[in-house]
Amino acid sequence: MVAAGIFGLPIVIEENVPLAPFTSFGIGGPARYLARPHTEEELETALSYARQRELDYFLLGGGTNILVSDKGFDGLVIKLELNSVSIEGRTITAQAGAELARVIDVAAENDLSGIECLAGIPGTVGGAVRGNAGAFGTVIGDILTDVVALDGDSLRVSTYSAEQCFFEYRSSMFKKNRGLVVVSARLALSVGRKDKIREKRNKTLEKRTVFMENERSVGSYFINPIPDNGALIKKFENDRKVQCRNCMIPAGWFIDQAGLRGLRIGDAMVSEKHGNYLINAGAATADDVIKLATMIKQVVHEKMGIELHEEVNYVGF
Ligand SMILES: Cc1cc2nc3c(=O)[nH]c(=O)nc-3n(C[C@H](O)[C@H](O)[C@H](O)COP(=O)(O)OP(=O)(O)OC[C@H]3O[C@@H](n4cnc5c(N)ncnc54)[C@H](O)[C@@H]3O)c2cc1C
Repeated sequence: MVAAGIFGLPIVIEENVPLAPFTSFGIGGPARYLARPHTEEELETALSYARQRELDYFLLGGGTNILVSDKGFDGLVIKLELNSVSIEGRTITAQAGAELARVIDVAAENDLSGIECLAGIPGTVGGAVRGNAGAFGTVIGDILTDVVALDGDSLRVSTYSAEQCFFEYRSSMFKKNRGLVVVSARLALSVGRKDKIREKRNKTLEKRTVFMENERSVGSYFINPIPDNGALIKKFENDRKVQCRNCMIPAGWFIDQAGLRGLRIGDAMVSEKHGNYLINAGAATADDVIKLATMIKQVVHEKMGIELHEEVNYVGF
């Protein structure tokens, strides 16, 4: 363990720390270095530490949307522990390391509505903002007013309006600009009734539990494609008896159609409950998961003419 004293602020840097326990997949090798900043100043110190030693760095939130390679990450992993949540009127300010679930609870306790439909999405506010996390037609970008972010190179702090964040399906400006670290986000909510908000939150959670129980995954592994094939869209709509939303078809449907549900390589497996959930069914390695994902992409392409792209973020490959 070493302490980096930059700006007179020490921060503990741990060495050779296994990353698997920090991830929902439970997969991956060690981080060469790990820092856990609790304040903005500590975050700056950690980033300076990486820059001075010319180390690659990686921001870790709840680890629910990453696959870490078996050899780990040869740089500095920064596990954000900035996790305060505060309220002013109808606005909640949440730091990036706060669990999204906690923000939803705090909103409900304070009769604030609008975010309860994101209940059940694991991970932190930082990860959710970067990937514009969402479910059942609502995304976090719909609720945000602005985001404070730190430029990892210049260490300059700036505020970005929701418009400047360029939120898209599972993407944002922060995903395209790797150097930006989300520090906090402000959410604009409306006044509601605690019992109604909790009821909606609980209903949302009930709808989701079927996917989540006892399975180690990253949620949806692939992004839902937008096919330009009208016949395919009709086939999906007839099969599922639903209208396709924003011209997107769930990646899981293609995986099912290709007959891949339950496919297993090593201990990596396509979940029996959800075609787009790849799970660690035992002691899966990242190599198992990559082989499985590669096979899925090949077969779906051969059988359906669709190219699948990963939603999961690869770390250390
Ligand atoms: C069971 C299950 C269900 C899920 N359901 C959904 C769902 O319904 N909808 C959905 O959208 N997602 C879902 N996910 C995926 C995941 O929960 C979301 O993508 C979540 O927002 C990731 O947040 P995280 O804190 O865990 O990010 P991490 O996995 O830690 O990181 C993901 C990416 O964000 C980056 N990052 C993290 N924090 C910051 C920061 N402060 N600044 C800049 N970059 C940062 C990381 O570097 C990494 O590239 C699910 C996952 C699981 C396991």
